[in-house]
Amino acid sequence: MRVKTILNRVQKQPGFVYGAIRFIQARGAGALEVEVRYRAGGRPTCSGCGLPGPGYDTLPTRQYEFVPLWGLAVFFSYARRRVDCRTCGVRVAELRKEREFGRATRGVTAWASAGGSCG
Ligand SMILES: [Zn+2]
Repeated sequence: MRVKTILNRVQKQPGFVYGAIRFIQARGAGALEVEVRYRAGGRPTCSGCGLPGPGYDTLPTRQYEFVPLWGLAVFFSYARRRVDCRTCGVRVAELRKEREFGRATRGVTAWASAGGSCG
């Protein structure tokens, strides 16, 4: 069974899709990095009023530490979008959703990719 299948079964993210899954090194141990992308055609939702609006831009990718799988640390890699809300102005989209990805983490630059895809 593919890792993506398991994630879709246990942690389906409405409005999002799982992209590439890579085996990486993090903190000296093996870990999984899972790319999370917006579903094509989905409009961003304002974190202020909760209404969808036109996209404004995309912020740099961040990593979120999720619960480990088979003892492997799991990081969701996710680039936040901003929405140009008619009421609230430019706001980060889907903040509530983002919290479900786990805790934002740093130190990503120290990661060395072990290469290959295991999705
Ligand atoms: Zn708004």
